[in-house]
Amino acid sequence: MVNTHILPQEFSYHEPHTLAEAVSLLQAQGSSAKVLAGGTDLLVLMKLGKVQPRHIVSISKIPALRFQTERDGLSLGPLVLHRDLEKSQGVREKFTALFEAARSVTSVQVRNMGTLGGNICHASPAADSPPALIALGAQIKIEGVGGGRAMLLEDFFTGPGKTDLKPGEVLAEIQVPDPGPASGSAFLKLTRVAADLAKVNVAAFIQRDQEVCRECRIASGAVAPTPMRLKQAEAVLRGKRFEEALCRLAGEKAAEEIQPITDIRSTAGYRREVIKVLVRDALLQAWVRAGRA
Ligand SMILES: Cc1cc2nc3c(=O)[nH]c(=O)nc-3n(C[C@H](O)[C@H](O)[C@H](O)COP(=O)(O)OP(=O)(O)OC[C@H]3O[C@@H](n4cnc5c(N)ncnc54)[C@H](O)[C@@H]3O)c2cc1C
Repeated sequence: MVNTHILPQEFSYHEPHTLAEAVSLLQAQGSSAKVLAGGTDLLVLMKLGKVQPRHIVSISKIPALRFQTERDGLSLGPLVLHRDLEKSQGVREKFTALFEAARSVTSVQVRNMGTLGGNICHASPAADSPPALIALGAQIKIEGVGGGRAMLLEDFFTGPGKTDLKPGEVLAEIQVPDPGPASGSAFLKLTRVAADLAKVNVAAFIQRDQEVCRECRIASGAVAPTPMRLKQAEAVLRGKRFEEALCRLAGEKAAEEIQPITDIRSTAGYRREVIKVLVRDALLQAWVRAGRA
């Protein structure tokens, strides 16, 4: 039995106050350094001895990484907490899937410590915010010694626990485009018990043109090695007159395109079945919300 109350290895702790300082510290230490934000993922892995960084670079004292602005969309610093998103009226009204994903993270204690940036960079296939952000079309900005770069969040994940981040790079901003008029989104999560990572989660975004589904994006977690956009399911609705039967068909397509595994939370077979219902229900909710916007 591993004693998870102690950190079994020694490390140097750095607490920069600017992003430039953090980036240069990380660059100098290369792969022996790890970024620390809220620590709700990293410290668990360190206590279990699964990662053993020799340098910890805490970014929590960098004010420039803690911001939330709503102008032409939503710009978020990586240190924004799940709890901040859950409490924001603007996020709740306009970026509902992100609000629902934040609210679904286990407990108030974890939501008060865990950051959006940490949730993304830990790259758990079952994390809650990535499917919501992908469905909402989010982009991210990454800073390194050589300068910054931007990419779609859906292209950031490369495998379980793996991302496109290079040693020395920091996720510096998450940008969610303005959803536009007559649009709505929804996030649904199925768990073993209320406070748990997902067996399966699904987020959907819809923009309406009266009774036609003008745009549709769907993403899901815990159904593949990375959070996954469900493009075949989306294609069932895009440009079509909206009908519940199409939502059911989109669910069937989703079940075909995911690559689930059997693990401690669920079986591959169950995931393939239940995604049909989650996709259908998320689409129906997003459609109704788009009608109210
Ligand atoms: C009891 C418990 C329950 C949980 N329940 C859920 C849940 O329901 N849903 C869910 O999605 N997650 C859940 N989590 C996981 C975790 O709380 C979240 O993933 C959280 O958002 C991680 O954020 P953090 O700030 O704590 O990350 P940290 O632990 O500080 O960092 C996580 C990883 O990201 C890297 N990192 C952090 N910020 C940056 C950055 N800006 N740039 C580059 N790298 C960075 C770190 O180096 C580390 O590898 C749970 C965790 C615990 C302990």
